[in-house]
Amino acid sequence: MNSVLNNRVLPVSIVNLCRTFKTKVPRVRFAPSPTGYLHLGGLRTALYNYLFAKSRNGSFILRIEDTDQTRKVEGSVKALLKDLKWAGIECHEGPGIGGKYGPYVQSERLPIYQEHISKLLENGSAYKCFCTERRLNLLRRDAVRSQRIPKYDNRCRSLSEEDISEKIGAGSPYCIRFKLSSDCSAFEDLIFGGIAYDVSLNEGDPVLMKSDGYPTYHFANVVDDHLMDVTHVLRGVEWQISTTKHLLIYKAFGWTPPQFGHLPLIVNADGTKLSKRQSDVKVEDYRNNGIFPLALVNYITLSGGGFDHVPGAGVRLKSMDELAEEFQIDRISSHPSRLNPDLLQECNRLEIRRQLQDDQLSQTLVAKLQDLIKHTYPSQTLDIEKEHIKTVLNWAVARISKIEDLVSSKFGFLWILPSNNQMDIDKDLLHRLVEYLETQEVFEEPILKDKLREFSKNNNIKFPELMKILRSVLSGLSEGPGVAEMMHLLGKSQSLERIKAVVR
Ligand code: GLU
Repeated sequence: MNSVLNNRVLPVSIVNLCRTFKTKVPRVRFAPSPTGYLHLGGLRTALYNYLFAKSRNGSFILRIEDTDQTRKVEGSVKALLKDLKWAGIECHEGPGIGGKYGPYVQSERLPIYQEHISKLLENGSAYKCFCTERRLNLLRRDAVRSQRIPKYDNRCRSLSEEDISEKIGAGSPYCIRFKLSSDCSAFEDLIFGGIAYDVSLNEGDPVLMKSDGYPTYHFANVVDDHLMDVTHVLRGVEWQISTTKHLLIYKAFGWTPPQFGHLPLIVNADGTKLSKRQSDVKVEDYRNNGIFPLALVNYITLSGGGFDHVPGAGVRLKSMDELAEEFQIDRISSHPSRLNPDLLQECNRLEIRRQLQDDQLSQTLVAKLQDLIKHTYPSQTLDIEKEHIKTVLNWAVARISKIEDLVSSKFGFLWILPSNNQMDIDKDLLHRLVEYLETQEVFEEPILKDKLREFSKNNNIKFPELMKILRSVLSGLSEGPGVAEMMHLLGKSQSLERIKAVVR
């Protein structure tokens, strides 16, 4: 692909070089609060930031926003790091990873926020507020009663220096609020386009620093994005409403803000909202349910745009490198991203297929299935040698969407003998069948099928009837894979063993 400049065609490498010089190398961040598990929405935010950085040789930063200590859940940072690593998302800077912009945990940056809040107090953009919780509650209740939007009335904005000194002298606790103004220019959202929202119409002056010395999300988020040199903020659309507020804070500091892009909501296929409580949206649950990381990652990218997916063209599994190469923020749709769970199954199937084609990965896959079999059927006695497992996997890949399916009741017959079947069986018929099959050299599906057909004709039994009996004898099931297929998979001796066991 070439680019045209002044009627001259430039090779791609030069175009890229120009771009590199014109734009800063991106620094993006994923800034979760350690309040629980990583869910699908969080994973998407992390993934898109990561892919954006990766595609432009930028940096992907992990920052833990734990300023609300009351919501902190023990162990969640560790779980988060585990989930990101599992998904193949590599953090370049962050807690436990390092980087020159640290610390990367907000509760370890309190002196930085103190220093910066002083600047806003000095330049008159912020003020001390002594209103008690009781007064704030009264304001809230009053507003609700008279059907107004509950918001702080900015009373402490107008306190005199003497009032302030007196209150401080009396030891009254205070927080620090930001003076909101209507002076917020619209901003260009990288995904939604122009956004204009006058936050001061709907909110009172927001708290930047709480009375316990901890910053609020809004303040710490802005200070850190600036100090960490973040160039692009890609985050969930639920934060879009806060962005104009953030822009006012940037302005108060005299800082240039990063560019903002808000990722649309992820919704169910029918458009209804996903709930964090829906157990299947936790990344950990996907992992425990046999979903492979690359499958989950591809699944996410299929729902919201940003990539080269052609609708209706079928799913193709892409590597992280391919995804990064294709990713373009302006291709992300601003409509809610609808998840289609069928695509997750398809992605996982494709991932199993990919792993089977790779020497190393297929060995791991085989070992995983061996473990699952041993665990599910502790008394299993049948062949679970590597070669056999691999044959089964190659056969099964079109029928399953996860490895765990192969130890479900539907496929259990592959590893254990079927339990006693209830059918009234014509033992003579099966005797003759054993004799007939023993003479067969080739035990492969199409040939076997023909042979069974021939046997049914010669023995005066309808073919479907014979299949029904054999399926039950071989697998204990009333439905499932084709009988000849089953016999091929079980092998000649195991198939005959099972028939003989019934005749005996
Ligand atoms: N701490 C916020 C969260 O939990 C981060 C929002 C942002 O990215 O600015 O999602």
